[in-house]
Amino acid sequence: MYHQPVLKNRRTLLERAEKFISDIYFTDCNLRGRLNGDSCPLQSISSFLSAKRITFTEACKQNFAPYKVGETFGPTWWTCWFKVTLTIPESWRGREVHFLWESDGEGMVWRDGQPVQGLTKEGEKTSYILSECLKDEEPHSVTLYVEMACNGLFGAGQGSMIAAPDPNRKFSIQKAELVIFNRDVRQLLTEFEMLVDIVKELGEGEQRGYQALFTVNEMVNLCDPNDPSSFSEARRLASKFFNQQNGESQHMVHAMGHCHIDSAWLWPYEETIRKCGRSWVTVVNLMDKNPDFIFTCSQAQQFQWVKSWYPGLFSKIQHYVKKGRFIPVGGTWVEMDGNLPSGESMVRQFLEGQRFFNQEFGMYCKEFWLPDTFGYSAQLPQIMQGCGISNFLTQKLSWNLVNTFPHNTFFWEGLDGSKVLTHFPPGNSYEMKAKIEELVRTVRNNKDKGRANHSAALFGYGDGGGGPTQLMLDRLRLVQDTDGLPKVQMSTPDRLFSQLRAESALLCTWSGELFLELHNGTYTTQAQIKRENRQCETLLHDVEVASSLALCRNRTFLYPQEKLQQLWRLLLLNQFHDVIPGSCVGVVVDDALKYYNDIRSDGSVLLREACEALGPKGSSVGVFNSLPWERHEVVQIQDGTDKPGLALVRAPSVGASPVIDIQPVTAVSVTLQADGTVLMENGILKAAINRDGTLASLCLIGSNRETISDGCVGNQFVMFDDVPLYWDAWDVMDYHLQTRKPVSEVVQPAHVVSSGGLRGSVGFTLRISDKSVVTQEIVMDAMCPYIKFDTKVEWAESHKFLKVEFPVRVRSPNATYEIQFGHLQRPTHRNTSWDWARFEVWGHKWADLSEHNFGVALLNDSKYGYSVHENTMTLSLLRSPKAPDATADMGTHQFTYAVMPHSKSFQEASVIQCAYNLNFPLRLIQCSPDTVPWSAFSVPEPVILETVKQTEEGKGMLVLRLFESHGSSVTVTLRTTIPVREAWHCDLLERRQSTQPAHVTPEGIALDFTPFQIVTLLLVL
Ligand SMILES: [Zn+2]
Repeated sequence: MYHQPVLKNRRTLLERAEKFISDIYFTDCNLRGRLNGDSCPLQSISSFLSAKRITFTEACKQNFAPYKVGETFGPTWWTCWFKVTLTIPESWRGREVHFLWESDGEGMVWRDGQPVQGLTKEGEKTSYILSECLKDEEPHSVTLYVEMACNGLFGAGQGSMIAAPDPNRKFSIQKAELVIFNRDVRQLLTEFEMLVDIVKELGEGEQRGYQALFTVNEMVNLCDPNDPSSFSEARRLASKFFNQQNGESQHMVHAMGHCHIDSAWLWPYEETIRKCGRSWVTVVNLMDKNPDFIFTCSQAQQFQWVKSWYPGLFSKIQHYVKKGRFIPVGGTWVEMDGNLPSGESMVRQFLEGQRFFNQEFGMYCKEFWLPDTFGYSAQLPQIMQGCGISNFLTQKLSWNLVNTFPHNTFFWEGLDGSKVLTHFPPGNSYEMKAKIEELVRTVRNNKDKGRANHSAALFGYGDGGGGPTQLMLDRLRLVQDTDGLPKVQMSTPDRLFSQLRAESALLCTWSGELFLELHNGTYTTQAQIKRENRQCETLLHDVEVASSLALCRNRTFLYPQEKLQQLWRLLLLNQFHDVIPGSCVGVVVDDALKYYNDIRSDGSVLLREACEALGPKGSSVGVFNSLPWERHEVVQIQDGTDKPGLALVRAPSVGASPVIDIQPVTAVSVTLQADGTVLMENGILKAAINRDGTLASLCLIGSNRETISDGCVGNQFVMFDDVPLYWDAWDVMDYHLQTRKPVSEVVQPAHVVSSGGLRGSVGFTLRISDKSVVTQEIVMDAMCPYIKFDTKVEWAESHKFLKVEFPVRVRSPNATYEIQFGHLQRPTHRNTSWDWARFEVWGHKWADLSEHNFGVALLNDSKYGYSVHENTMTLSLLRSPKAPDATADMGTHQFTYAVMPHSKSFQEASVIQCAYNLNFPLRLIQCSPDTVPWSAFSVPEPVILETVKQTEEGKGMLVLRLFESHGSSVTVTLRTTIPVREAWHCDLLERRQSTQPAHVTPEGIALDFTPFQIVTLLLVL
C-alpha cells in the first residue's frame, strides 16, 4: 500500500518530509503554513509604564494611554502594563481561539484579577487560549491585562547573555492579535516532526530509522494540507509506527516536567517572584488539560514568594501537590551553593525547606535536588540523611572541563560513610524539550548501562521560560513505548529512585566530594558577599548561643524565634547558587548586601539583648565566648579614658567572664633591625619581616623549626592574568598560573606599629599596579600560636587575580582543607588529570600542609579559594571579572588571614580551634564587677559543639549540634551547668528519636562518635 519511492535516495525523502513541515520554506503550500487560520485585530491596546513592580490592583487604577504595536517601551527592569479589549468574531464558532502576543519582554496575562498565562517568546509561550472550541454562550468580548517586564528570559545583557545588563534597553510588542488555531494540524505536525527526528537520530545504521523514513514519506503522499479530511489517513500510519512496541529489556526514561528558576542571577530577586508566577500559572494550566502531567519544583523560598504574591495560584498549586502531580522537591530553602555555606547553613537550608514543605503541603521531600550547583561537599550525604533524604539528583558534573565523571547512577558516600543513591540524568540537561535526540542521548550516554535501567529526563524551559509546553507533553505521549526508542513514562522522583534502588545490586560507589572541574573562580569572586556570608553565619551563631543561655539564666528572656528565622532565611537566600558564588549581576549584589546589612543590624541588636540578659548589668567589661573551649586571648577594650586598650583575658567555654587582665608568660617584642628588617617574637613564634612585608623567616621556637622554604619568602603577594574562556565571574583557567608576577613595589616599607607587650605589629604598603594598593598590618599577640595579617586592598583591576603565597618547609603528597563539619585531603601533586584539574580548590576557615610531627596551617576570616601545589600554600584573595557585573570587586577590601606553624599533627596542635577563634571574636559585654566566670557547656576535643539554639517548636527545649572534628571514633562527656531534665538524640530536622534517649549523669551526657559524625541533641530544660 506504500507508494514505491522513485529512487533509493534517503536524503531526498528526508528533506521532502522536512520541507513539508518547515516554517521557513514552502509555507504557502506545506502543512506548517496551515497551523494558524484566520486572524483578527484586537479592539484596543493601551499601556501604562511603571518603574516599580506593582500589584495588579494598583496597576488597574492607573491611566492607560493608547499603544500601537511596534512602539518601544522601557528602560530595563521597568514594567509596562497593557490593557487589551477584544471581540471574537461570531463566525469563529466551533474553532480554537488564541490571543497571540509576541514580545521580547516577559509577560503575564491577567483576566478578572487573576494571573492566567505566562508569556515568553523564548519559552515558546506566545498565546493565551481564549476558547478551545468557541460556543455561543462563551463571552466574545473580553478585557485582558498584560504585565510586561522590561527584561528578557536571561535579563538584559549588553551584547551577550552574561554581559553586564544594558540599563537602557527598550522592548516592544511585535504581534498582538486573535487567531484561529488548528489543533488537528498541530497534532499531525508533531507526528511528522517526531518521525523526521527518528530518521535523523537513528541514522543509517538501524533499520528502524528506515521504517520511520518510509512512513513519513508515505504520510506526505497521503496528506493534503488544504484538506483536513486527508489527515486521518496520515495519522493512522504514524500511529501504526509509534505503537510498534519494544521488548521488556528496553531502558525506561522517567519524564518529569521542570522549570529551573534561578532565585536571582541575571535579574534581581524581585523579578524572580514574577518569573515563578508566570511559569507556575502556565504549569497549572497544563495540568488542568493533561491529567497525566507531572511537574517537579524546588526551592521553598519560591513557594513562599508565590504564596504571598499570588495566593490564588498558590491554592491551585496546593491542590495539585495533594494530587501528587505538582511535586515539591529538594527539601531546601533555595538551591544553594554546594561548597561555600557552612555546615550549620547547610543544615538550615534543609531545616527551613523541609519544615516549610511540611507546613504547607504536609510532606517532606525524599530527594535532594541541586541540578545546577558548582560542586558538592563531601559532607552532604550525611546532612541529607539527617534530614530524611536518601536520594540525590544533579547533572552539573557533566560540565567538567577535564575529566568525564564515570557514572550516572551510583551510591555517593560522604565523609562519614553515609551513602545516598545519586542520579545524574544522562541527557545532561535539566531543560529538555522532549525531543527524540534527548531520549536517544539519555540511553546512549548512560554510563551505567546494564547496572541501571532507569533514567530521569527533566523537560521544560527554565528561568521564566515557563517550564513545559503542550507540545512537549504531546511528544512524550507519542513515544511511550515505540520500538527502537527508550520507553518513556511520566514519572516522579520517588518512582525513579524506588526503581533504581530496587535494582541497585550492581551499582558502584563514589566516595568523597563531587568536585566540579569548572567555575573555580566562584570561591573568590565578589569578595564582599563571601565576607558578609561568613560574618553573618558567625553572628547568627553567637545570637543563638547567647539567646539560648539567656533563656536558661533569665526567666523573663524571650527567645527571638521569629526574628531569627527571618534573618536565617535572608542568609540562606543569599547562599543561592548564583549569589554567594558571585556569578550574578550588580543589582543582585546590591540586594544581597542590603540583606546582609539587615542581618547585621538586627542581629547585633539581638546579640546585645541576649548578652544583657546573661547576668546582672554593671560597670565592668566582660567577655562572652560562644565557642566550646576556654580561650586565652588578647582583646581590645575601652578603658576609662575612652582610649582603646588591650587586655589578655581568660574566657570560659560557652560562657562569660569579667575582663581580668592576666600577665602573659612572654611579652611580644618587635625590633627594627639596621638592615630594615623587623623581628617579632612572642615566645611561641619568631618572625623576620623584610622591608617589603614578606616573611624572611618564621620559626616555631619550641621545636626550633623554620617554616619558610629555603631561599623563599612567605606572605608573598602575587598577581595573575585572569582571562577565562567565557564564564567571566565563574572561571579561572589553569593557564593563569603561567602569568604569575610577584607584587614587590614598596610604597611604605615595613615599620613598627605596635612595639610589643600584649600585641606587636608591623605595617607596610605595596603598590599592586598604578590603580591598586595593598596595606597590611602583621599582628603578633601574646600567647597566640599564629601571626595575623590584617589586610586592606584598594582594588581597581581588570581581569587580574591577587593571591598570597607561603612556600613552606613541609613535604606531603596531600594537603588538608576544612569543609562543613570536617575536613578532607586533596593532592599537592599533579599526577593524573583528576589531580591537575584541582589547581584551584575551596576550603573554609583553614587549610593545612603537614608532614609527620610538623606542619603549617593557613587560616582566614572570609576567603574560600585555596591551592597547595608541592610545598607552596596559596590563598586566593581577589578577582576582577567584568561579567555579569561590570564593577565586581572594585573598591576597598578588608580581610585577615593567618599562618600557624605547628608541631605534631594539625589535630593535636588545635589548628581547628585556632581557626574558629580567628573567626569568632570574643564579644565584649557589660557585667557587674562581682560576676563569677561561668561556663554553660564544655566538651573535650575532638568533639566540637557547633550550635546551641532553641528548638523550632519552642517550648523550653534546646538543640545542641556537635560533630567529631578529627576523623576519629571517640566517646566523650558533654558537661553542662544547665539543669537538664532529659536529653534525646534527634535528627537534623529536630525530630526526636524516641528509641534513642541520651544518657544524662551528674557528670554530663556521654556521647559516642564515629569519624566526622554529626550528633544533634534535644535538651528538655
Ligand atoms: Zn541555576
